[in-house]
Amino acid sequence: MKCPKCNSTHSRVIDSRHADEANAIRRRRECENCGTRFTTFEHIEMSPLIVVKKDGTREQFSRDKILNGLVRSCEKRPVGYQQLEDITNKVEWRLRDEGHAEVSSREIGEHVMNLLMHVDQVSYVRFASVYKEFKDVDQLLESMQGILQEKNKRSES
Ligand SMILES: [Zn+2]
Repeated sequence: MKCPKCNSTHSRVIDSRHADEANAIRRRRECENCGTRFTTFEHIEMSPLIVVKKDGTREQFSRDKILNGLVRSCEKRPVGYQQLEDITNKVEWRLRDEGHAEVSSREIGEHVMNLLMHVDQVSYVRFASVYKEFKDVDQLLESMQGILQEKNKRSES
């Protein structure tokens, strides 16, 4: 990484964050020679991530699919698009951090729900019902109770 001003190859990273796409990282750098600050975008080559669906068929992982599912679940709810993108990015990174070539659609659904639960409960229930994670109403209520208990715990402390 060359400094645009003095061509020195020595720079240090002062800030890095995920760009909008999960496979890009934006880095703010400072040249150790002349102090010039510049920004770089690094794209990461990622190995394919395969999703194993409930019926055993496989398909390429798609972050758009997660995002679309979230948008549908959060319709007419006070949840911003940026929050949904954040959830999608977190889920993708979590899956890739685990390092498996194949993940189950159930696992993805669970990651999404764990994050969505803390953002909006109505959206969470909608999403959960789409993913058919709940076999019956009892199971759904049990899960809702867990959320409420956690909420109470947080407001007490
Ligand atoms: Zn420089």
